[in-house]
Amino acid sequence: MITQNLKQLRHAIPEQVRLVCVSKFHSEEAILEAYNAGEKIFGESKVQELVAKQEKLPKDIEWHFIGHLQTNKIKFLIPFINLIHGVDTPKLLLEINNQAAKHQRVIDCLLQVHIASEDTKFGFSEHELLDFLRSDTWKSLQFVNIRGLMGMATFTNDELQVRKEFSGLKILFEKIKTEFPNHSQQFNVLSMGMSDDYKLAIEEGSTMVRIGSRIFGNRNY
Ligand SMILES: *Cc1c(COP(=O)(O)O)cnc(C)c1O
Repeated sequence: MITQNLKQLRHAIPEQVRLVCVSKFHSEEAILEAYNAGEKIFGESKVQELVAKQEKLPKDIEWHFIGHLQTNKIKFLIPFINLIHGVDTPKLLLEINNQAAKHQRVIDCLLQVHIASEDTKFGFSEHELLDFLRSDTWKSLQFVNIRGLMGMATFTNDELQVRKEFSGLKILFEKIKTEFPNHSQQFNVLSMGMSDDYKLAIEEGSTMVRIGSRIFGNRNY
């Protein structure tokens, strides 16, 4: 089933868009099936679950953390993590930098922007994000590399609204590239789009989609 799902999905996703297989709450066997079908990027949202899976699964898997990260758990990710998607405060970025310094490892991060109408979703507002980037404090952080932005659209059937939220994030992404030309080469990841809205996200300029249930089926929480 997983192999079949991936085959269909791969047809729908342009080659230049990267696919993060969101494997949270799914078994190592399920991940291995996707891995054997050619997938190398997996996303998890719980630190303990991620660490346990990482220890057992093939070492060439690129692991992404997509959840809400608590500062006291950062240290468990630092040795192996490839990308942290949901950095939602300056404080968290600073803490990641401090922990990463201990391992002399530069950690790729995405800043999460709050684009949805629900206030349950984390992230910088556009205003906070621009203030933070203009403050320049991030430039002295040697062990984090801000690679781009991440956003989650409102959970709604209103396509127009979802599209508007994604296109707003894309505009912000381009604006930041223009305003920080020295950083724009590394600033090239726009993580948006999940199982139900990835097509809209890609049409609006996503470079990385995070897809779980469309690959692995429903999650049993
Ligand atoms: C769970 C999760 C996903 C995947 O959701 P699906 O609807 O199953 O594709 C993507 N992004 C984040 C941040 C998630 O927590």
